[in-house]
Order: sequence, then C-alpha cells, then structure tokens
Amino acid sequence: MKSEFAVIGLGRFGGSIVRSLIEQGMEVMAIDINEERVNEFASVATQAVIADTTDENVLKNLGIRNFDHVIVAIGDNIQSSILTTIILKELGVEHITVKAQNDYHEKVLRKIGADHVVHPERDMGRRIAHYIVSTNVLDYLELSEEYSIVEVIVNDFLAGRTLVELDVRAKYGINIVAIKRGKEIIVSPMANDPLQMNDILIIIGADTDINRFEKKML
Ligand code: ATP
Ligand code: ATP
Ligand code: CA
Repeated sequence: MKSEFAVIGLGRFGGSIVRSLIEQGMEVMAIDINEERVNEFASVATQAVIADTTDENVLKNLGIRNFDHVIVAIGDNIQSSILTTIILKELGVEHITVKAQNDYHEKVLRKIGADHVVHPERDMGRRIAHYIVSTNVLDYLELSEEYSIVEVIVNDFLAGRTLVELDVRAKYGINIVAIKRGKEIIVSPMANDPLQMNDILIIIGADTDINRFEKKML
C-alpha cells in the first residue's frame, strides 16, 4: 500500500503533523526508533513502523522513495536528523521537510538539500512576542526577513476614520488587504467606509513600516 506522507520522529511536533494529516484525509506512515512512540500511533496513522532512519537499508526497505513527501521531525538528535535527511535526498525523495533545532542545524539542512526547513519554536516565539508587545496585534505571519502580514484590531484611535483619512499607504507604505467585521470578510475595503470598533485589519508591509503604524495607533 502506498502512503502519501511519511513522518519520521513522533515527538510533539511530528505527532501533531501525523494527526493533522490524518484529519485531512491523507495517508501517513508514522516512523520512530522508539517502540512506545510507535505504539501510540498504531491506531492513528495509516501505518506505524519502528525503524532507525539513519540506516539507509532500513529506509530503502520501507520504500521511502515512493512517498510524495517525507517530514523529518527528529528533535534533539541533530546528527540523526542530518543523516536521515542526507539519505532521503540520496534515495531521491521528492519533497523533504525538516524541523530545525537551531540556526546552525537549519544552515546544514539547507546545504544538504532539504526542500523546506521549519523552525517551529523560534517562529512561534516571534509570533507570540508580537502580540505580547502590542495589544492591538492579534496575529502575525512572517513573509520574509523584512515583510509580514499582521492582524490588527481597530481601537478608539482608528474607529470612525476612513482609509482615505488614515492614508496609510502614503504615510506608512503599508496596505490594508482585508477587513474582518464580525463574520464578514471585506476583501477590497472601501476607501470611504469608516472603520468600526473591533474591526480586524489585515495589513501587509515591511516590518519597520508596520511597527511605525502600530506605534502611532497606541
Ligand atoms: P518536540 O519538540 O516536537 O516534542 P521532541 O523534543 O519530542 O520533539 P525528540 O524527542 O528529540 O523531539 O525527537 C522526536 C522523535 O524522534 C523521538 O520520538 C525519537 O525517538 C525520534 N528519533 C530520534 N532518532 C531517530 C532515528 N534515528 N530514527 C527514527 N526516529 C528517531
Ligand atoms: P523548546 O521545546 O521550546 O525548545 P525546551 O524543550 O528547551 O523548549 P526545556 O528545556 O524543558 O524546554 O525548558 C526551557 C528552559 O526553561 C530551559 O532553558 C530551562 O533551563 C528553563 N527552566 C526550567 N525550569 C526552570 C525553572 N524552574 N526556573 C527557571 N528556568 C527554568
Ligand atoms: Ca523539543
């Protein structure tokens, strides 16, 4: 039987990926060196397998090449993570996503050809720091080193003003791409429509410009 995804390492992160993929109707092979972890996923994943993925023959025998996408979620053991990734690459796996433990780990993973490196602890930390600093910021998505999308709640400074009055594009170089108002999402906000208290503005722009706007709002 051919699974679409294989997840290696069933810690909190890998385990959460397995559960979410299954919830989305995907077929997932869950792999870990630790028997107890594998047993936990026996009734969750399409298949759950005990294997040491730093052994090339083990990966070959699992037919890992036939998976569309392999996710390496080995946490603390950076050596195993790197070795596993190199073997997957050499065996010709098409899409490889790897969780990095730190910036050096990330650098190595990129050098050896991981298609997608994720850094959940660092990124979630940044995201949460944004909404701790500014009570107006509800969510934050980093697009690149310089650009982000943020969700900002309309406070009494903004309420009643229109986009024309605020003129944020000229003054701050940021764009309001949508407004969430209750259950409604306004994707092309009218320039002359006054903002309402508790509207949520979805803003895209350079971090420095978004920060200037956030400070102005306080
Ligand atoms: P998280 O931070 O997401 O909770 P974690 O800290 O639990 O992850 P680890 O426990 O370090 O991460 O690693 C995740 C899993 O990877 C563990 O269950 C571990 O048994 C598994 N693992 C480690 N080395 C190998 C290997 N060589 N082959 C297969 N699985 C491995
Ligand atoms: P993450 O998965 O986010 O990387 P972690 O697995 O590194 O987190 P821990 O190592 O369990 O998380 O704890 C994070 C930090 O909290 C560690 O640096 C640890 O020294 C510190 N810490 C643990 N207990 C205490 C304590 N009682 N007082 C102060 N610091 C603590
Ligand atoms: Ca961890």
